[in-house]
Amino acid sequence: MMPFKSIALIPAAGMGRRMGASINKQYLQLGGMPIVARTVSVFEQSPLIDAIYLVIPAEEIPYCQEHVVEAYRFSKVVAIVPGGKERQHSVMNGLRGMKEHVSGNDIILIHDGVRPLITVEALRESIAAASSHDGGVMAVQAKDTIKSVKNGIVTSTLDRTTLWQAQTPQAFRFSVIFSAHQAAETDHYLGTDDASLVERIGGTVRIIQGDYHNIKITTPEDLILAEAFLSSTQKTRARHD
Ligand code: C5P
Repeated sequence: MMPFKSIALIPAAGMGRRMGASINKQYLQLGGMPIVARTVSVFEQSPLIDAIYLVIPAEEIPYCQEHVVEAYRFSKVVAIVPGGKERQHSVMNGLRGMKEHVSGNDIILIHDGVRPLITVEALRESIAAASSHDGGVMAVQAKDTIKSVKNGIVTSTLDRTTLWQAQTPQAFRFSVIFSAHQAAETDHYLGTDDASLVERIGGTVRIIQGDYHNIKITTPEDLILAEAFLSSTQKTRARHD
């Protein structure tokens, strides 16, 4: 048995307004399954994951319990926690929800509910990175040139060779990520990802080579793209079987 547990924390408490659908975007179907259920299924399948905490808008918890957790018999989902105003608050709610049930050394894999194309292999690499460093972040190298702009005018062109686009999972020991979130809360600091909170308290975060398929589904175009990625992976798998 491993000396620590690996626990998934899946923030899925965004309202999904950009999708323009009548239900929260995360319940739209992707390859015949709600997006968020597909995300949870990857963690459920991984033998390295011991438990899953889902963060959902309070009013959607009964729907999620019935149409995701019970419908797909996800046995590792131990709690559905109500979300907060911003993603960072939702993650903190999840961390508080698990605090009494985990040890400081346990590894927490934080993963967006709307990134369903994550792989079991990526989870393994994230756990390894969080074991050897203060954290591990899946990321891909920027393909485009990124410019810094103010009032419509370019102020500088950044050196692309050093730029990476952060994705999730982002994995950390519980003690590290909880301290980082506590410090951010105290300082009223709102970051755009969890790793940035660990960086600001001096933590060393390792990059894990990500995958351009691991997109965050936020607009209708993203769903079309995800359907295409999914069917191409299924075709590749069918050829190998
Ligand atoms: O806001 P964004 O599109 O970056 O969302 C990334 C993830 O964070 C989504 O899975 C979304 O449901 C979640 N989120 C959350 N609580 C919020 C806002 C976003 O759990 N208040």
